[in-house]
Amino acid sequence: MSDQIVIIGAGVMGCASAVRLRQAGFEVLLLERALPGAESSAAAAGILGAQSEVSQAGAFLELCLASRARFRDLCQELTEITDIDIGYEESGVLEVALDPAEGRLAAGRAEWMLDRGLNVELLDREDARKLEPALTEQMIGANYYPDDHQVDSVLLGKALAAAAQRLGARFESGRTVLGIESHQGRVTGVETAEGLIPAGRVVVAGGAWSSRLHGLPPLRTKVKPMAGQIAQLDTRPPLFRHVAYGFSGYVVPRADGRVLLGSTLEDRGFDKAVTAGGLHRILGMGITMIPGLAEARIDQTWSGLRPATEDGSPILGRGSLEGLFYATGHYRNGILLTAITADLIRDLLLEQEPELNISEFAP
Ligand SMILES: Cc1cc2nc3c(=O)[nH]c(=O)nc-3n(C[C@H](O)[C@H](O)[C@H](O)COP(=O)(O)OP(=O)(O)OC[C@H]3O[C@@H](n4cnc5c(N)ncnc54)[C@H](O)[C@@H]3O)c2cc1C
Repeated sequence: MSDQIVIIGAGVMGCASAVRLRQAGFEVLLLERALPGAESSAAAAGILGAQSEVSQAGAFLELCLASRARFRDLCQELTEITDIDIGYEESGVLEVALDPAEGRLAAGRAEWMLDRGLNVELLDREDARKLEPALTEQMIGANYYPDDHQVDSVLLGKALAAAAQRLGARFESGRTVLGIESHQGRVTGVETAEGLIPAGRVVVAGGAWSSRLHGLPPLRTKVKPMAGQIAQLDTRPPLFRHVAYGFSGYVVPRADGRVLLGSTLEDRGFDKAVTAGGLHRILGMGITMIPGLAEARIDQTWSGLRPATEDGSPILGRGSLEGLFYATGHYRNGILLTAITADLIRDLLLEQEPELNISEFAP
């Protein structure tokens, strides 16, 4: 039986897992159909929204908080290994309420966060505009989450791939895995168009394509693509500093003046089209929250496929075949969850008790 670990997919999940597994001494082979980090991971806005993105207390919130807390160190570690700065910025997030109904929702959200002991400030319009003068005068107020931050997801994907390679992981790009091979309840390898690659342990990190592999045992939930469009604007000098997170989209300012407006949530299979309707919605949302953006130049647009699950939770843990592991289905929060997922995958492969209870995310 081969001792190497095969990882299917070299997005942030596959590459970050490869980094941690190499550091733990495993032989790692990443099989990537296209280009490492170029799918959903490169499309993301990069919000580390453990508070802005989560709707209630519970296991998912704890997973998000644990991951957010690791990003400052991860950024430093990746810079040391690769010289790539992933653009980790402690910019904070303002959740903007534009009308009384949104104001009530925001207040309700602040309540459970305060009960959990998280940092939240409820700002009225005046205080929110003092903190971020570019915000619209039309808003009611905003919840300020000073601990939610951002990274540049394109750079995160590149840095993780470079780090995995520097640490000795092998990459085969342009290699499509067709399915998992197993014998008597044990993984024996993966089938590719070019033949079988033997492996005693396999990590499924194929993003939105994860459920398409043959030979997988039935899963708690399927993974399916959920498209999201982004428009990137160019503001020079930068117009604002904080992530503005609204009830129908978000606006993410990078330090260099780029501004990302996102995103749609579209259930239309593996179609990555950027559409007139999609852009209309996200541009309208952005200009409503930050009126000054109306003058900004459009730089580029794109869309990506989030790996969505039916119950909204990731698929994380040991599969029902011996030697099969999953790091997929992270839906809207895969950038945020990169750090903790990779650590958990390392713990599982070392057969150590994971540091968090992840039974809720079991495959
Ligand atoms: C518009 C948009 C905005 C987002 N914003 C945020 C955000 O602000 N914050 C956040 O935390 N998350 C965000 N996300 C979500 C985040 O991007 C994803 O959850 C995360 O990137 C998933 O990473 P992954 O490695 O699982 O998937 P991917 O990056 O899609 O990587 C999977 C890889 O597997 C490869 N693959 C698939 N099948 C096979 C196969 N059979 N053989 C070989 N290779 C295969 C693919 O080519 C791909 O490279 C956003 C997503 C989108 C689309």
